Amino acid sequence: MQSLTSKIYKNTFTETFEGDETGNLTPRQTPGVLYSKALPSPVAAPRLLAWSDELATTLGVQKPETPEDVAVLAGNYVTPTMHPYAACYAGHQFGHWAGQLGDGRAITLGEWEAPDKRLWEFQLKGAGPTPYSRRADGRAVLRSSLREYLMSEAMHYLGVPTTRALSLVATGDQVMRDMFYDGRPEYEPGAIVMRVAPSFLRFGNFEMLAARQETEHLKQLVDWTISRFYPHIQGENKVLQWFQEVVDRTATLIVEWQRVGFVHGVMNTDNMSILGLTIDYGPFSFVDEYDLNFTPNTTDLPGRRYAFGKQASIAYWNLGCLANALVPLFDGTEELVKAIESFSDTYWERYYLMLASKLGLDHVRPEDIPMFDQLEKFLDTVKPDMTIFFQELIDLAEATEPIAPLAHFSRSFYREPDPVERNILQEFIESYRQRFASNTCSKEESLARMRETSPRFIPRNYLLHQAIEDLQKGDSKLFDRLQEAIKEPYSNKFDEFFLKRPDWASNKAGCSMLSCSS
Ligand code: AMP
Ligand code: MG
Repeated sequence: MQSLTSKIYKNTFTETFEGDETGNLTPRQTPGVLYSKALPSPVAAPRLLAWSDELATTLGVQKPETPEDVAVLAGNYVTPTMHPYAACYAGHQFGHWAGQLGDGRAITLGEWEAPDKRLWEFQLKGAGPTPYSRRADGRAVLRSSLREYLMSEAMHYLGVPTTRALSLVATGDQVMRDMFYDGRPEYEPGAIVMRVAPSFLRFGNFEMLAARQETEHLKQLVDWTISRFYPHIQGENKVLQWFQEVVDRTATLIVEWQRVGFVHGVMNTDNMSILGLTIDYGPFSFVDEYDLNFTPNTTDLPGRRYAFGKQASIAYWNLGCLANALVPLFDGTEELVKAIESFSDTYWERYYLMLASKLGLDHVRPEDIPMFDQLEKFLDTVKPDMTIFFQELIDLAEATEPIAPLAHFSRSFYREPDPVERNILQEFIESYRQRFASNTCSKEESLARMRETSPRFIPRNYLLHQAIEDLQKGDSKLFDRLQEAIKEPYSNKFDEFFLKRPDWASNKAGCSMLSCSS
């Protein structure tokens, strides 16, 4: 284990690529460079609110013991071997080209070498302005930081590819935010998350170099990304193989989101990880009721571009932007087009496999597809609680006596199904029972598969909201409990949270929908 202060950090990104080394934080365009040196701006009174013990152990990071250690997590102390920088990237936001964006409030301090020699980017979110902050302050509030801290760790334990969070620090400073975008800004407590990932590179890093016609830089970044993060890719056509793998990983990521009911909320291309990780936790939410049209982001209304049911098609659209950016590296577009067109088949194949696991089926048979459709039709019409519904399905599959489905699933309903809807459920359960009985694997195997595919605990927005409100009043009980619960999402150990979203939370800001203000 090594301490945050005494560690020798690596800086392979800044040593490889051209950057603006002036340290000037004035907002500006930075053509010709992939990053700008940016020192964090100090905060008043850093206080450690949360620390990810397991992650720290894996990476070999000693728990902060001194004020200097905490100072590193707050941006108040930059050690001699760090080379802090903000990356320059661009992106498509809500379907439109937005030009240069960049790390407006994220600062990578350096790369931490873990005991297995792998390097992890240590990045502060909310550590003050960078050249990419545009008109904003480079800070983050406690509510959004707590959400990112808990949720990125929760996703990890759910088995979904994600960036991680090592620490949550209160800054002791106040940050002004207009949370409801209604012209009534208020001060809120500030916070900083130390995010950790092999890389925070996004589709937007590549898009920016293409837009600026910096083809040499683009090629250099692609080659570096392949050799550092996709070292198994060798031989001819490396760039094409790599793009194909980005397509595959992105398809897998979205299937994983659909599996647990996660809605990202801002799938702009600057929020799409080149490693296929969930990245940039903002106005995300789990679905409570199964609603393909649900978007948690108030800025996404009325179009609902980033709704639960649209995440796959948006991922495909975003991959199209990445492919466009890579065109200068190819002689023609044919191969790129072929790679991107594989998305749909890959996605659906994995999606059906995932659904089959949720249903405890041994594998996917062609005749299962109409049954899946029947189930989705029921879910998206009646909109039961997704998490509870799939848990009840496990009980139904386990039962040896026949069970009347309507009463059995009633715990998951936010409203009673009408007679037509009851029929759909009845028909689905009948075909499902027959299909389940024809499995070639044992019942125990099926049930085990179901239990490891459908989580029983998810950090619902209203729970996060309550934890934040309590913490702001000085009560950390719920936050502490949630930090435990996220580690065992498939067990019944935290059944105190095994409840539908309560009525009071249905239309409350922060509990069902959120603004981007963070
Ligand atoms: P997001 O929607 O969170 O992905 O952010 C889009 C862009 O806005 C990114 O370039 C962010 O770095 C930037 N940004 C968001 N909030 C702030 C802030 N408070 N200060 C500076 N930049 C920000
Ligand atoms: Mg972002």
